[in-house]
Amino acid sequence: MFEKFLTGKTAIITGSNSGIGLGVAHRLAKAGADVVLNSFTDTDEDHQLAEKLADEYGVNVRYISADMSKGDQCRMLVEKAGACDILINNAGIQHVAAIPDFPSEKWDAIIAINLSSAFHTTAAALPVMREAGWGRIINIASAHGLTASPFKSAYVAAKHGIVGLSKVTGLETAREPITCNAICPGYVLTPLVESQIPDTMKKYDMDRDEVIEKVLLERQPSKEFATTDELGDTAVFLCSDAAAQITGTTISVDGGWTAL
Ligand code: NAD
Repeated sequence: MFEKFLTGKTAIITGSNSGIGLGVAHRLAKAGADVVLNSFTDTDEDHQLAEKLADEYGVNVRYISADMSKGDQCRMLVEKAGACDILINNAGIQHVAAIPDFPSEKWDAIIAINLSSAFHTTAAALPVMREAGWGRIINIASAHGLTASPFKSAYVAAKHGIVGLSKVTGLETAREPITCNAICPGYVLTPLVESQIPDTMKKYDMDRDEVIEKVLLERQPSKEFATTDELGDTAVFLCSDAAAQITGTTISVDGGWTAL
């Protein structure tokens, strides 16, 4: 869809060396955008991933290491990129525990990476977008930005927060050719979700398939995971002219979860 219409645009995608971020990077690169990949790991594999993506789609792809738990590094990412037409705030982590047992350092880390990072990158990106006269900010929230589950206090709070931030950003840019929206995925089988499976198997004495069907996809009426390609294509759509009047809102890609 929309072959190469993003040629000449630069997309920064936080947390994009795996999962949804990488899926979005593939689809934006396929649509012609130059891409800045990010994580905090700075490994040879990270740089090779950038080369591979550049070769596959014939666009410029750079990897910039920056720790999204630190406000100054979030801002530095945008500065180092030198251009930012499209900002995808995607970096995220998870921790599952009841509130009295929830380690406060995990709460702080989730709020910093899943929420505050988007404030810092947006603050740094908006002047760059205004100078360029065009911009798209897409925050990867979650069905947990619209609904809650027990034991995910920090995650649910951060995701509700990023939906709120998307609304405010949409309002502050409403008279400009800049939009900001949140994509709210249901479950997507990425490393973040994979890492929850072994503990859940132990907790409920279930095998992997049972955990997927009865726990993970319990609230996803389609009984299918959303895919990283589908999320990438949703982001590409939000970058298109057809989406120019879509701002300050959420788009669910959740197999019907939030209809329940
Ligand atoms: P993932 O673990 O595959 O990817 C997370 C990314 O964040 C990785 O690239 C990782 O390097 C990066 N990251 C983590 N901490 C970082 C830090 N301090 N600095 C920079 N980068 C950091 O997980 P995913 O499932 O692809 O998650 C991506 C986003 O999608 C998250 O915000 C997550 O909450 C959201 N999401 C995921 C699902 C799902 O089912 N997988 C559902 C809804 C929302």
